[in-house]
Amino acid sequence: MFPTGKRGTMRRGASLDHGLAPSDRVILHVDMDAFYAQVEQMLKPDLRGKPVIVGLGRSRRGVVTACSYEAKAFGVKSGMSGYEALKLCPRAEVVRGSMDTYTYLSEKTREVFGDFTPIVEPASIDEAYLDISGCMTCYSDAVALASALKAEIKRRIALVCSVGVSVNKHLAKISSALEKPDGLTTMWPHELREKLWPLAVSKIYGIGPVTTRTLNGIGVFKIGELAEAPISLLKRHLGSGAEHFKRIANGENVSSVHRHEDLSDEKSISHARTFNYDSDDIEYLHSVILHLSDKVVSRMKKGGFLTRTVSLRVRFSDFTTITRDKSLQKPTEKVETVYETARSLLPLRRVNREKVRLLGVKVTSLSRAESTPQMTLFGDTRSERQIVAANAVEDIRRKFGKESIVRAGSLKFIESG
Ligand SMILES: [Mg+2]
Repeated sequence: MFPTGKRGTMRRGASLDHGLAPSDRVILHVDMDAFYAQVEQMLKPDLRGKPVIVGLGRSRRGVVTACSYEAKAFGVKSGMSGYEALKLCPRAEVVRGSMDTYTYLSEKTREVFGDFTPIVEPASIDEAYLDISGCMTCYSDAVALASALKAEIKRRIALVCSVGVSVNKHLAKISSALEKPDGLTTMWPHELREKLWPLAVSKIYGIGPVTTRTLNGIGVFKIGELAEAPISLLKRHLGSGAEHFKRIANGENVSSVHRHEDLSDEKSISHARTFNYDSDDIEYLHSVILHLSDKVVSRMKKGGFLTRTVSLRVRFSDFTTITRDKSLQKPTEKVETVYETARSLLPLRRVNREKVRLLGVKVTSLSRAESTPQMTLFGDTRSERQIVAANAVEDIRRKFGKESIVRAGSLKFIESG
């Protein structure tokens, strides 16, 4: 074997030939394109080529759960109110979604993933990370495998996805979004300058509008500028997140070893929604709490966190706002626990008398999730990896399965009005 120094030289040389050292990782991020809308178009051919909105009912008060690319062209986005969406695209075909169908097809995609690698980390119903490092000897192998995976999903499920191929999860996720729909995009270390650096800093997960403004304020607009900015300047303006983001911009892996430290300054995660029309419809309010809980939990999972405290913020028509919270007996990362807890905090008596204009769900008392799928994805033993994958699938099943709390909630979303 080569001494360490020599081996480093070999690896750099090898990467120019698109070769991979055994220790290099190859990660795919697979993202179904406009998943719910695509499923509707696949099942109902008369919807193909048309703007489709999933998740509204007969009235306009619900939330857009998903929309087809044809609807996106009009500016429609998921999360938008039905009223706004139909104003932008009055001719959109409005479809009642079926969470059972989406869950079923999501599981089918996962079966395909499982045929390619045992290391699958579902990130949501329509997204997953696959570690295919073990099967690769060179970059072109990785692209061939990604391409075969796309073809297999199309053949078995008749759905189209976009795949990002890179050396860590952050870069894989960024690249899967670059050529949607039906994309296959690599982002290898030698491509960072060309593909990653020209992108806006907001493309990095965790850099939201506030951080973007802060960075723009110091002249950092592109990821390349972030990569090259002096760390002292970044620290002054971003605090402890500076190193984390700079590492991502330089293509360094932050998903495993450094991740906990990097994110441990996160004190809470929250999502809120203001309604277009104030509401005292309990079922509708529950469906919004479910939607918010789901968003909060998926962010928690991405950061590798568990929560011990759930709080619910309620603003009434007269703008008075109350916040109630509840501590859990043990830390959780389960969406149903967060949802049930938040739901139990809704002040029913007052809602019977007054309408609500805003709801927010927040989780605090975050701790490091040493054994969550996120953290153990790259664990060493095969059985550990399989348990991780099974747990994650189970999560989705519980979340969207037949007896779950979600079904009633999602139906209400669809019918809300
Ligand atoms: Mg998607």
